[in-house]
Amino acid sequence: MLNENCIFCKIIKGEIPSKKVFENDEMLVFADIEPKAKVHLLAVPKTHFKLLSEAGEKERATIARMLAALPEIAEKNGCKNGYRLVVNQGDDAGQTVPHLHIHVLGGEVLGW
Ligand code: 5GP
Ligand code: ZN
Repeated sequence: MLNENCIFCKIIKGEIPSKKVFENDEMLVFADIEPKAKVHLLAVPKTHFKLLSEAGEKERATIARMLAALPEIAEKNGCKNGYRLVVNQGDDAGQTVPHLHIHVLGGEVLGW
């Protein structure tokens, strides 16, 4: 289920343009609009939920398949020497978009 007010749901539906690098029936990976590293991708499930704690069995299986797919996607998109995955969860982490997303950061040596 998608949410009509959510930016990432709109990107999934194609209502907001994005630079897509990978897509299948359950996930989309696209470039972050304000990259924090030379390579900055966002991987999102094609179902709307905010937090890992809200994921049911189906969503957890999707997340597992997303994690399994990301190494090849990262490597093909410029992360030849490693990358960082970040999943902000809630306000203290600074989560700004309430649709679960995995940041893929790389393409250079990353500081903290
Ligand atoms: P958060 O802070 O929620 O973990 O990360 C949200 C990310 O979404 C930010 O890095 C931000 O730059 C990115 N973002 C927000 N709006 C858009 C958009 O409309 N398009 C794209 N491609 N990225 C977006
Ligand atoms: Zn959404």
